[in-house]
Amino acid sequence: MSGQGAEAVGGAFRVDGQWAVVTGARTGIGRAAALALARAGANVVLWGRDRAGLAEVAAEVRALGRECDTVGADLTDPAAVESAAGDLAARRRIDLLVNNAGIISRGPAAEVSLTQWRQVLDVNLDAAFLLSRCFGTAMLARGTGRIVNIASLLSFQGGLNVASYTASKHGIAGLTKALATEWAGAGVGVNAIAPGYIATANTAALRADPDRNRAISARIPAGRWGDPADLAGAVVFLCSPAAAYVHGHVLVVDGGWMAR
Ligand code: NAP
Repeated sequence: MSGQGAEAVGGAFRVDGQWAVVTGARTGIGRAAALALARAGANVVLWGRDRAGLAEVAAEVRALGRECDTVGADLTDPAAVESAAGDLAARRRIDLLVNNAGIISRGPAAEVSLTQWRQVLDVNLDAAFLLSRCFGTAMLARGTGRIVNIASLLSFQGGLNVASYTASKHGIAGLTKALATEWAGAGVGVNAIAPGYIATANTAALRADPDRNRAISARIPAGRWGDPADLAGAVVFLCSPAAAYVHGHVLVVDGGWMAR
């Protein structure tokens, strides 16, 4: 090991005193990411549709001894996203951004309306771009910052009856690589995590379908669905100085699904 890498390893997996924005932080993977970053030393801005709904997670972050703020803005509304992000960036230095919020719409591609298609793309891809542009601009000016996008196994595979979701998650992988290529040299790290099958609201329909549930479970080498907490280490790693030389990577955290 050489250079900064060797020095970094000791306290490298900490993000003490940094401010992180986590979208979709009320539930599932976003909540787990927010709490993991708080445990690793970060103060957190929780972003969701509804500020009141974020109060419980905010209390959990504060109980860990960190500062916490909340933003309520619907990610399907680009004007609201840009306005809320601009206000936040003007009053707070944001060091870390986790573009986690995401929705899924299930149905045969031939029956998907443009409205459904657009809604998924708005939340899963457009909002991630707008927030990366807003907070990334300030990170670039400072020469430091980390962005983690939540991708999916459907950043690599086609999935079944989820065309808009698959398109959005392939897009997120592409956006991750495009931003990393442009921003790595300016000190801003952009990476993604591709979770496997995680037990959250997003996968409730799959887990409720006995055939799909059985088939999915049988294919996971780890022998179980993931828990949101299984993503915590990867989020902290990619936000931390330990990942200083990691750029444009899509880190699969899937119990071995893609290896099979
Ligand atoms: P989840 O519990 O349903 O979380 C989704 C979050 O996104 C919610 O907290 C929701 O917040 C927020 N959100 C949805 N629409 C929004 C909007 N219009 N504006 C603002 N926030 C919005 O599901 P999850 O599994 O944790 O999903 C988190 C991310 O992981 C998503 O990007 C998903 O695609 C990805 N992922 C999940 C899995 C899995 O197996 N679960 C696998 C791969 C990738 P509010 O309801 O409070 O507004």
